[in-house]
Amino acid sequence: MTNIVIVGGGAGGMEIVTKLGRKLGRKGKAQITLVDQSDHHIWKPLLHELATGSLDEGLNALDYRVHASQNGYRFEQGTLHALDQVNHQIVLAPIYDNKGSEVLPERRIDYDYLVLGVGAITNDFGIPGVKEHCDFLDLTEQAMGLRKKILNRFLRYAKNHDHKHFEITIVGAGATGVEMAAEMHHAADTLRGYGYEISEDLLRVTLVEAADRVLPRVEKPRICNAVAEELEKLGVVVKTHTRITEVTERGMQTADGEFLPSDLMIWSAGVMGHPFLTTLGLETNRANQILVKPNCQVPSNDRIFAFGDCAACPQPDGSFTPPRGQTARQMALMIGDNIQRLMDNPNAELKEYVYKDLGSLVNLSKFHTVGNLMSFMGGGIAVEGKVARLVYTSLYRRHMIALHGPVKGLFLMGLNGLQRLMRPELKLH
Ligand SMILES: Cc1cc2nc3c(=O)[nH]c(=O)nc-3n(C[C@H](O)[C@H](O)[C@H](O)COP(=O)(O)OP(=O)(O)OC[C@H]3O[C@@H](n4cnc5c(N)ncnc54)[C@H](O)[C@@H]3O)c2cc1C
Repeated sequence: MTNIVIVGGGAGGMEIVTKLGRKLGRKGKAQITLVDQSDHHIWKPLLHELATGSLDEGLNALDYRVHASQNGYRFEQGTLHALDQVNHQIVLAPIYDNKGSEVLPERRIDYDYLVLGVGAITNDFGIPGVKEHCDFLDLTEQAMGLRKKILNRFLRYAKNHDHKHFEITIVGAGATGVEMAAEMHHAADTLRGYGYEISEDLLRVTLVEAADRVLPRVEKPRICNAVAEELEKLGVVVKTHTRITEVTERGMQTADGEFLPSDLMIWSAGVMGHPFLTTLGLETNRANQILVKPNCQVPSNDRIFAFGDCAACPQPDGSFTPPRGQTARQMALMIGDNIQRLMDNPNAELKEYVYKDLGSLVNLSKFHTVGNLMSFMGGGIAVEGKVARLVYTSLYRRHMIALHGPVKGLFLMGLNGLQRLMRPELKLH
């Protein structure tokens, strides 16, 4: 039987594995295997909400093993660390428990088709002190660690009236940085409501951006201006044209010689592929992304595909695919179709991926949502407020439906809504 192995159960990986599992795995037409380093999936665009406690991981985490058993695929937990192209095998690193005892040894898994969708990590650009002193939002564990830190700092500073401000510096005013800045204000407001003694001016959030505006990758000035205005209303200090040159325990040094004292520093300034991708024997670019052909096959091996944040796929205008949830999803589903074509006819013509920009939405927590839809149609459609918020939440809804089917997906979203009504607005533990 044909072995299709998908590494990375993220925004794109979960959609392709669910589709192939139901279509091929359940009918015995192929064996579908998902490999992920984690045992559960949380949709990455929600990580900043997890970090501030707006999102409950218990309600939104999907257990890979349970999902696999219900959707016609196998799940193997492990971290990909090597590739044996001669024997068509991937190699997974051993798993150790937190005391260092080996839980599982190194394992090899055979593939006929291999699909890589391992996502990306935040780029520290080699700036001294970033790795040591900043928090990142690449993994669920990092988001949960950050939540603990945020709550502890609020607890400490709310009680200690000598400490005038809780200074948070966020680097990178892309969607993640901007949304995180607003979420911090939401957290402060809500905690005040729960009895934390948080004065109106305790929180000081500074958003640092090297480019000349917030959301530098968003081409619509209307969205950038609306977001900048809303951040100003919240009291977020936005520093554009500002480059960080060093980070210390106490704060950040800028290229202009200014020092930004900080109690908490969050780094969300761009993404790069995992360094191990450069050791797999596949061609990568300077950002460690795997170079693929327009049909998402790697140029040197027709059995290997890559998609999403870990891949660089050339576009007709000479650019490369942007690292976004919708790109990962669209590429992954197309790869699923291409593999089915190859299984039917090894010489089949494969589809080529052209990025279709369905729009950009920026959600400033409970304060405002703004964006543009159907950007591939000329100027697109401008949306904001409740309509934009509805579309924003519908993106996650669509992901849930793809993973669980329409009935269970909608039921789970309804349950999520009910639980939100019944539990505190912020998760405090
Ligand atoms: C806070 C935040 C907010 C965001 N908001 C938006 C948004 O509003 N809109 C948008 O379009 N995009 C947004 N993004 C970007 C979006 O999340 C990514 O572009 C998208 O998740 C990429 O999907 P992917 O499938 O390529 O990788 P991911 O979703 O990152 O999944 C990668 C998977 O690979 C696994 N993995 C990694 N390394 C290994 C390994 N060595 N072995 C095995 N498994 C491995 C990981 O555990 C993970 O499950 C946001 C990102 C963040 C961090």
